[in-house]
Amino acid sequence: MELLNFIDGQFVKALGGKWLEKHEPATGKVYATVCRSDAADVDAAVKAAQRAFPSWSETSTDERFRWLMRIADVIEARLDAFAAAESQDQGKTVTTARTVDIPRSIENFRFYAQYITQMEGMALESKGAVHYTLRKPIGVVALISPWNLPLYLATWKIAPAIAFGNTCVIKPSELTPRTITMLAEVLKEVKLPAGVVNIVHGLGPECGQPLVEHPEVPAISFTGGTITGKKLAATAAPLLKKVSLELGGKNANIIFGDVEPAKMQECIQTTLRSSFANQGEICLCGSRILIQRSIWDIFVPAFVAAVKALHIGDPRDPKSFMGALISEAHTRKVESYIKLAQEEGGVVLAGGSRPAGLPDRCRDGYFVAPTVISNVAPKARVNQEEIFGPVVTLIPFETEEEAVAIANGTQYGLAASVWTGSVSRANRVSAALDVGYVWINCWLLRDLRMPFGGVKASGIGREGGKFAMDFYTEVKSVCSKL
Ligand code: NDP
Repeated sequence: MELLNFIDGQFVKALGGKWLEKHEPATGKVYATVCRSDAADVDAAVKAAQRAFPSWSETSTDERFRWLMRIADVIEARLDAFAAAESQDQGKTVTTARTVDIPRSIENFRFYAQYITQMEGMALESKGAVHYTLRKPIGVVALISPWNLPLYLATWKIAPAIAFGNTCVIKPSELTPRTITMLAEVLKEVKLPAGVVNIVHGLGPECGQPLVEHPEVPAISFTGGTITGKKLAATAAPLLKKVSLELGGKNANIIFGDVEPAKMQECIQTTLRSSFANQGEICLCGSRILIQRSIWDIFVPAFVAAVKALHIGDPRDPKSFMGALISEAHTRKVESYIKLAQEEGGVVLAGGSRPAGLPDRCRDGYFVAPTVISNVAPKARVNQEEIFGPVVTLIPFETEEEAVAIANGTQYGLAASVWTGSVSRANRVSAALDVGYVWINCWLLRDLRMPFGGVKASGIGREGGKFAMDFYTEVKSVCSKL
């Protein structure tokens, strides 16, 4: 299978004729090649987006509503094909792709289709004049996305970018090029005007960097690691480009002793998901579980037993809760953190190695068992650095103040969960946490109107609803003397 760039409404090879190999994480085998693009391909994509901008930005919101709804409908009609491809490409289970990734990709298009029909501006009368706002799309937007939730995060950028009247060039992670290429097939089929969405595959430094630097790209929406985000910010700042950065996390999941006993089972089951959903490769996973000492002896044995009972196997198998990690290199990284934890005094209570009993097909795949580690100090490296895999640490605490201090004691500030039976404690702790998103007695429940983004090293800017509107448009004030 050859995965091509999509420029000006056409599937094209990289101009330099270079290719990258794409491995299937569950088997370790190459199953596709993908274009290895460079600055020349990026330039062709930006020029196509520039040509498409004048007419696309003039379309009515009703027209754009219909385009986005049509795209969503076609993806939905191919849900199973998209889910199977996302699983093969990324290593996640087909069930996860079918119930999380692809439905959310559809929702991204439907949400922004509807959002633009409800947009409001501002108008007021004062000083003998009427003052009002005008919103305009920015132009050609660069969208750079990671490999963990490939179509979900790419469409979280594409949908608002084009809904608000921009055209775009997206560089997905070269590790997960498959479903974005399938999306391009959908765009071609529904006859979205050529150049509105362009896709260039390739490596970050060779293809992402020229896209960020391109003089005709005034805004960049980036989701990825903090180190890449800093580099991107350093490139974009002197060029005065608008930047949205959604970066890494080291999220705390704080479990207080006053969780209602009837809710404990729900707390454990949700913590299993917040720890290991998508192999722990979700920026919002709670990788540090903070447990009040009063319930340590209740929570820990029950949680560890539940982790040991999880089925890890072929992502195609509906019984599998976890599939494979994204790549061999990432697997080595995750394993090195498990080793480091042990060197830092950590005790492995579950997992810590490759899972047993994998089917033959997965013999060379990239698998790590869900791993639970205790006895590591809050300031130890494994509790400070993002591992981005199926590894969680358990950290005891005595008081609410101590829990907040530990939770806030990293460079990151993306999200947190708080489990408690006390409403006043829940509100107090939520206010004290230095993060962009807090879940109380739940995890990953999202309403797309809410602002999403991190503080500190977890990013700059917010996406979702009107916050995306602020990023993907420029607002102008007009004053008309009465
Ligand atoms: P990376 O930062 O390595 O890569 C993200 C994207 O940036 C990729 O497409 C990458 O290409 C590209 N890139 C790399 N270098 C450059 C460059 N110099 N200029 C432009 N683009 C570049 O992140 P990962 O793909 O490894 O994703 C995992 C990270 O993403 C984790 O840290 C995770 O926390 C974070 N993340 C954050 C989320 C949030 O909403 N806050 C959501 C999901 C993930 P290439 O693949 O070729 O390197």
